[in-house]
Amino acid sequence: GEKKTLDISKLTQEYYRLAYQNIRAKDKEYTANLITELNNDLPKIEVSPLELGRVLVNVFNNAFYATKQKKAQLNGQYQPEIKITTSQKNGYAVIHIRDNGTGMPENIKSKIFQPFFTTKPTGQGTGLGLSLSYDIITKGHQGQIEVKTEPGEYTEFIINLPQTAKSR
Ligand code: ADP
Ligand code: MG
Repeated sequence: GEKKTLDISKLTQEYYRLAYQNIRAKDKEYTANLITELNNDLPKIEVSPLELGRVLVNVFNNAFYATKQKKAQLNGQYQPEIKITTSQKNGYAVIHIRDNGTGMPENIKSKIFQPFFTTKPTGQGTGLGLSLSYDIITKGHQGQIEVKTEPGEYTEFIINLPQTAKSR
């Protein structure tokens, strides 16, 4: 994808809005509280907005799904919450996306970046979202994507994107 010099705090917020509007259009019952801790003074960095957008939308959709599932498990006594944090560290711009959904046990966590791995029913997931995301971040942007999770508690994706010498 074509790269542009962009503010990733803005980009992340814009794609959250798109993903949230999209799920709300399909599922009128669904709501999530958004918490943001955005660094609005991050140096702009070179990214493909379309490719990074695909990563973000997939991570947000996974978060919506995991919180919907948890809500069903808890008979509605629960409120989905998504937290977005942006920061910079060691020459990288960092995006954290955390949800308070189902979380994952270790045997699932270890497989999520593999192509075609999904725990969703047939027709609801291809299992390609995170493997594609992994390639976009690592091969397409020389960055890293990691996950932290606790079953029943939370899942957090951490995306590190290098700040080039030019934009630093
Ligand atoms: P898909 O969404 O089509 O299943 P992904 O590659 O996007 O494929 O995700 C693979 C699997 O990783 C999901 O099926 C799910 O088991 C797990 N997963 C991803 N994100 C989350 C999350 N936020 N909370 C819990 N499980 C997740
Ligand atoms: Mg997905």
